[in-house]
Amino acid sequence: MEINSIGIIGAGQMGNGIAHVMALAGYEVRLSDVSQDTLDKAVALIERNLDRQVSRGKISAEDRDAACARIRPTLDVVDVAQTDLVIEAATEQEAIKQKIFDGLLPHLKPNTILTSNTSSISITRLASRTDRPEKFMGFHFMNPVPVMQLVELIRGIATDEETYRACLAVVDRLGKTAASAEDFPAFIVNRVLMPMINEAVYTLYEGVGNVRSIDMAMKLGANHPMGPLELADFIGLDTCLAIMNVLHDGLADTKYRPCPLLTKYVEAGWLGRKTQRGFYDYRGEEPVPTR
Ligand code: NAD
Repeated sequence: MEINSIGIIGAGQMGNGIAHVMALAGYEVRLSDVSQDTLDKAVALIERNLDRQVSRGKISAEDRDAACARIRPTLDVVDVAQTDLVIEAATEQEAIKQKIFDGLLPHLKPNTILTSNTSSISITRLASRTDRPEKFMGFHFMNPVPVMQLVELIRGIATDEETYRACLAVVDRLGKTAASAEDFPAFIVNRVLMPMINEAVYTLYEGVGNVRSIDMAMKLGANHPMGPLELADFIGLDTCLAIMNVLHDGLADTKYRPCPLLTKYVEAGWLGRKTQRGFYDYRGEEPVPTR
């Protein structure tokens, strides 16, 4: 199974990062989203991020130009379906992902591998509703994609060895490292990370500390490079809440109950950096805690 072209669905923070690294590694990329405006913004952001790598001497100007030329933004699902490997990186809601796969199925090449960048949703369940559960996998990048070394590869119950090996070869070509995870809610990284973030929101909710003290305590006391609330803003509070709900529903254990304060922030539309406000307010020069 030779992979030359990659179709990416969803051009948000993850989709544009995935397009960036795939294009730099020499893959032909089709990047899609729901509106031209989102696609234009994603392409402009990728160009800015590539420029930054050039100015830091990490890549050459030729590499940047070649990578940009390999990315084709498209609103047409058929374009994406005609690639060798599709990575779905749309909003973390099963119904949205399901609809995307339903739309792709009639247009796929027989050998196209389907993957999802989901942080938590069952790969086996997503795969079972397609015509190719054996060619379906979880392909879970970390944020920000150009910086983070890890990719979790998650096999659904039916995923075949050839598909796994083809995805592993893509991870190798990106110069990243794969961790193999079994298909249980939130896999490895988020199974461990998200309850910690949720607990940090509980400590805020219960008044144990304020935003600054909680983040400082975990940075200086546990040697974390970012505080948990700062990290939640970076990930997106809607994504954090969606993952906690998957853990809570999927493992049926009250220890995964999402903090009501996290729900409140999401209901307010305060989703973190991507909406300029979350546990911090990013609209000024410096981030200011909102509690
Ligand atoms: P995001 O909100 O930044 O982007 C999601 C994008 O999906 C948006 O641009 C939206 O317009 C698009 N979209 C929604 N419905 C669509 C459809 N029907 N067709 C095409 N595009 C559609 O979210 P994100 O942070 O990029 O997360 C995307 C996926 O990656 C989620 O499954 C998330 O769990 C996963 N993920 C996120 C992180 C993180 O730190 N944010 C890390 C790893 C994995």
